[in-house]
Amino acid sequence: MTETVPDAHPRAARPAGRVRTLWWGLWRRCPRCGSGHLFRRYFRMVPDCPRCGLHFEREQGYWVGALAINIIATGGLLALTVVVGLALTVPDVPVVPLLALVLPIGILGPIVFYPCSKTLWAAVDRAFLQRLDPGEQLDEIVRH
Ligand SMILES: [Zn+2]
Repeated sequence: MTETVPDAHPRAARPAGRVRTLWWGLWRRCPRCGSGHLFRRYFRMVPDCPRCGLHFEREQGYWVGALAINIIATGGLLALTVVVGLALTVPDVPVVPLLALVLPIGILGPIVFYPCSKTLWAAVDRAFLQRLDPGEQLDEIVRH
């Protein structure tokens, strides 16, 4: 017997693959059902998915993974910008214009990527770590 969540995403009736789970996380969607509307405000994420009830904060300190993802993404974008800027302008590197490009990325990047980093971390946790409580394991069995 398969129980579905009311108003659930059509694909939520079966477990999403890792690629789909990560895709949903990248686009600020629930890693279990693909639902949006996970943020009340830009920086304030709901504690549970409004559609499937997935609880996001698994334990104290859980969001450190999101912080790491945010740092890696912003740092990667910064490094890419510097490398491309240097590669295109060597040997006459325009330091001030390059800094004018890099500083806003360094300052605004973590803010812009903040919501995605949280849902992406929840997706990484779900896709690769799968640390479910016994009640959640039963819920997953019933759902699928
Ligand atoms: Zn959900």
